[in-house]
Amino acid sequence: MNMNFLRKLPTPQDIKNLYPLSEELAEIKKRNDEEITKVFTGVSNKLILVIGPCSADREDAVIDYIKRLRKVQDEVFDQIIIIPRIYTNKPRTTGAGYKGMLHQPNPLSDPDMLKGLIAIRKLHMRALEETGFSCADEMLYPENHRYLSDLLSYVAVGARSVEDQQHRLTASGLDIPVGMKNPTSGDLSVMMNSINAAQHSHTFIYRGWEVVSTGNNLAHAILRGYVDEQGNSHPNYHYEDLINLCDLYEKSGLVNPGVIVDTNHANSGKKWAEQVRIAKEIMHSTRHNDKVLKLVKGLMIESYIEDGSCKADERIYGKSITDPCLGWEKTEKLIYDLAELRRMKH
Ligand code: PEP
Ligand code: MN
Repeated sequence: MNMNFLRKLPTPQDIKNLYPLSEELAEIKKRNDEEITKVFTGVSNKLILVIGPCSADREDAVIDYIKRLRKVQDEVFDQIIIIPRIYTNKPRTTGAGYKGMLHQPNPLSDPDMLKGLIAIRKLHMRALEETGFSCADEMLYPENHRYLSDLLSYVAVGARSVEDQQHRLTASGLDIPVGMKNPTSGDLSVMMNSINAAQHSHTFIYRGWEVVSTGNNLAHAILRGYVDEQGNSHPNYHYEDLINLCDLYEKSGLVNPGVIVDTNHANSGKKWAEQVRIAKEIMHSTRHNDKVLKLVKGLMIESYIEDGSCKADERIYGKSITDPCLGWEKTEKLIYDLAELRRMKH
């Protein structure tokens, strides 16, 4: 066999016992979950912002960034619910490159999965403890979800995973919102089928157990743009795309129709600065049509302390080592502008 079994890793319960969540923090997460759920069930019309760096590359800069978000959140709480992105495991298009803090707690050192499991739990825990935010992560490895299940308030299933059955079935067993991204090809039926699978009950094998899920009525869509056969990026955030998604939802029989629009990735063609214009264009679309207003639950924005991106070995504090991000000054202004645009509507 071409695989060397290096060591047995602790189970999620072992890691939770080593780094347990206090009752106070569990209570804060529960309150956050309730507020977020109200948006996806249509009880609240606040705008959700899933916002933060493409990858959480180092604890100090990520905590610094999330503390800045806390101050802004307190100013815009009447219109916006911020869910910081702490993305600790990264899908890679060709398999090469930084796979996230889970694999490499230090991006310049060799992979160490045990250190990684501890590092990602500590980072999500610190964010909750020091800022009151329970955060978002990508569910890249469904089997790993339970290492963080008491800390996360949102997960996304990425464009490269959304057609995978184990992702869909695991999503059906979660009680937090799961965003299903459109696949890189842009085929919306794959995304809608994934939401359908996640909204229903299934019996399956999970971590060596036979389990039965109840179905997750908070599973929803994420539009992230797509790439064509020639490798060119195309957006799917325009008004016509949103109307089209309203129609798909109407025909689908799915509950809680909703979309989070990703303003980076193939929607911006990774031109990170365009995220400001794209976010505002989506607000304009919601003001133009009530159906679109109801459908758009929020935005996903790639943002960090410094504008753009750098190579991992440059190690610039607060600068993304994966996709390029909107820097702090522009981010702060954008969030205030979005809150103002929402105040004009309601
Ligand atoms: C991301 O959100 O950083 C990401 C990898 O997204 P996608 O799955 O849309 O490529
Ligand atoms: Mn990214």
